[in-house]
Amino acid sequence: MQRSNPKVDKFYHSKAWKDTSEAYMSSKYYICERCDNSATICHHKEYITIDNVDNPDITLNWDNLEALCIKCHNKEHFKKDDEYYFDEEGNIILKM
Ligand SMILES: [Zn+2]
Ligand SMILES: [Zn+2]
Repeated sequence: MQRSNPKVDKFYHSKAWKDTSEAYMSSKYYICERCDNSATICHHKEYITIDNVDNPDITLNWDNLEALCIKCHNKEHFKKDDEYYFDEEGNIILKM
């Protein structure tokens, strides 16, 4: 598996993503959908990869989004041993 992916990284910094994630998160009142803590992360249920990052039906589709707190989000990603996690500001951190 590729560790760093500039294309995916670029998507997460795009205006389209910022607008979409902010609209989605505020529609959920910034409440975690799993534990009711305050949510800071807009998670993709189907993870964004190099193969789907160009597909707005996946990247910007509200049906594919989930508002999560940092705990639930990291749990989700560690569980699946994903290569990324996010800090409290939503910055992508590569797992060491
Ligand atoms: Zn949570
Ligand atoms: Zn995620």
